[in-house]
Amino acid sequence: MKAAYVRGPSNVEIKNVERPQIDNGDILVKMRACGVCGSDLEKIYGQYNQPSMRLGHEPAGIVSQVGLNVKNFKTDDRVFVHHHVPCYSCYLCLHGNETMCQKYSETNLTPCGLAEEFVVPEWNVSHGGVIKLPAHISFEEAAMIEPLACCIRAWNKIKFKKGDSVAILGAGPTGMMHVMISKIFGIKEIFCLDINDFRLNFAKQFAITEAIRSTSADVYQKLLSKTQNRGVDVVMVATGSLDAITQSIEFVRKGGTVVLFGVPSRDAKIFMDVSKVYSKEITITPSYAASENDTNTAFKLIEDRTIDVKRLITHKFDLSESAKALEYAHQGNDSMKIVITNAETLN
Ligand SMILES: [Zn+2]
Ligand SMILES: [Zn+2]
Repeated sequence: MKAAYVRGPSNVEIKNVERPQIDNGDILVKMRACGVCGSDLEKIYGQYNQPSMRLGHEPAGIVSQVGLNVKNFKTDDRVFVHHHVPCYSCYLCLHGNETMCQKYSETNLTPCGLAEEFVVPEWNVSHGGVIKLPAHISFEEAAMIEPLACCIRAWNKIKFKKGDSVAILGAGPTGMMHVMISKIFGIKEIFCLDINDFRLNFAKQFAITEAIRSTSADVYQKLLSKTQNRGVDVVMVATGSLDAITQSIEFVRKGGTVVLFGVPSRDAKIFMDVSKVYSKEITITPSYAASENDTNTAFKLIEDRTIDVKRLITHKFDLSESAKALEYAHQGNDSMKIVITNAETLN
């Protein structure tokens, strides 16, 4: 069967590998759709700093084999799979830092989500890491559960009020998810900033306050003019760009919050005016990945059609074209969410 691997910097290889074997508590899933995430791109084209280099962590598909001890799932179940599942009982989990849990990073799909079939380990199967999909949710929509869950987590970590303002730096797929979540939470002024015109135009379809080119000289003036000269309550940095982080300190109001959501490169360093952070009493909150609670919330929002994630999908590629898909996502000129699909085969 086919599976995608990072072969080296900027190099993705589709290998033919043995169909993976399952143990008694595991399940095997035939991938049908898997989203391309910024963190995948960081693993290939950047300097990723996370423990796993496996590609594809947003997969949905059909259960093709179940271990002898598995009771809750059967062959042909349509599922979304979370690659990491925390223990919910360690010190970090009990402090709400589930994505920092050791078990969280130890659990993973084998060989990876960007494969024809992958093993979901017993821990994930037995601890809520697999969600059965109702018939009305497509695999492509289900592939958006994980990134939406990451966005939900970011909002759950910060303080804000109905009627607040947000500047979303980076108008990519997760940037747009932050737009949709902002609306649910009653955020009044929503600004999207990017350097890419395709993405700025895309953002305009979401009835936001303004889509602004982040390099234009009057960005800050524009934000001030719609926030009674205060600056925005929340800046959501949905890009790995370090310039965006630097800008966020300017854009946020006194006492406001900056969320570090995008994935920075390994060893990324910035010069920051710390006195400004201090005297403006800015809260900087990083948000990494998503727990099962966030995943369940995201699933509900998609299931009951509160959030329509389908409109973010601009491109689909077959698994055999994964290298091309990832390169395309990396260029990012005219794409939002790119989904990799695996057509149903007869055996
Ligand atoms: Zn992701
Ligand atoms: Zn834990």
